[in-house]
Amino acid sequence: MRYRPQRTIASPAQVTGRALFSSVPSTLQFLPADPGTGLQFLRTDLPGAQPIPATIDYVIPSDRRTAIEHDGVRVELLEHVLAALSGLAIDNCLIGVSAQECPGMDGSSLPFVEVLLEAGLVDQSEPINPIIVTHPLRVTSQDGRQSIDISPSSEESISYSYALDYGPGSPVAAQYSAITLAPEMFVREIAPSRTFVLESEVAALRAAGYGQHITTADLLVFGDAGVIGNTLRFMNECARHKLLDSIGDLALLGAPLMGSVDACRSGHKLNAEAVRVLRKTFARRVVSAPRRAA
Ligand SMILES: [Zn+2]
Repeated sequence: MRYRPQRTIASPAQVTGRALFSSVPSTLQFLPADPGTGLQFLRTDLPGAQPIPATIDYVIPSDRRTAIEHDGVRVELLEHVLAALSGLAIDNCLIGVSAQECPGMDGSSLPFVEVLLEAGLVDQSEPINPIIVTHPLRVTSQDGRQSIDISPSSEESISYSYALDYGPGSPVAAQYSAITLAPEMFVREIAPSRTFVLESEVAALRAAGYGQHITTADLLVFGDAGVIGNTLRFMNECARHKLLDSIGDLALLGAPLMGSVDACRSGHKLNAEAVRVLRKTFARRVVSAPRRAA
């Protein structure tokens, strides 16, 4: 069976913003890459730094965001960038980043999607080598409150769902989002959904030095009466954003997935665990053809 061709961008693209947590200026440069390269990040502010593959092998534990590190060089908050690339089915791309943290932009994937679409997408000569889910499995958090169910999909597709439930009394109501991943659908339904935080968490984040430049206009802050100083782009924007995070984190597989991913209350840590289990269970080992006797 021959799968769809691998894909890269037709020309370089660039986007500049401020890091969501550290507030420093940060510029991303997206560059076309050869088939088989995958998605790799390169710190452009560190002379001599080597590209870091955006795969689970390089993920380090990090609070509230996804981070990769190699040889002491780190890139943080890559999940919204990875979601943009994965949502557009871009398999190969070198992403230069001028700071430790990717720019937060409006907290969604849309600003990345826009520059990538402007750069144009091109099919490449090699087909993808997907990871195909052939039987159901489940990962759960230690306390059993979060889960991700992974199951085969009937077609050559990937579908995601996310059930958000912070319990009664949370300023964010229980909500749900689902999508069968296709670029047009992703751009319209998922990419614009922004990251969010509870008003009750803001003081602690500020005290930790995070998000000093952020106002309620820059990301969704939920108080007891709902979203503060901002307007939701979707009624279930929070569930859509958690689904966006799942798409970004699942890109750490390093290969397109074919299957169904149904998450309940999961976050970056459990998403990473799902990637590890998926890879261990379903990754096809590349076996070289036997040599013909001379
Ligand atoms: Zn996020």
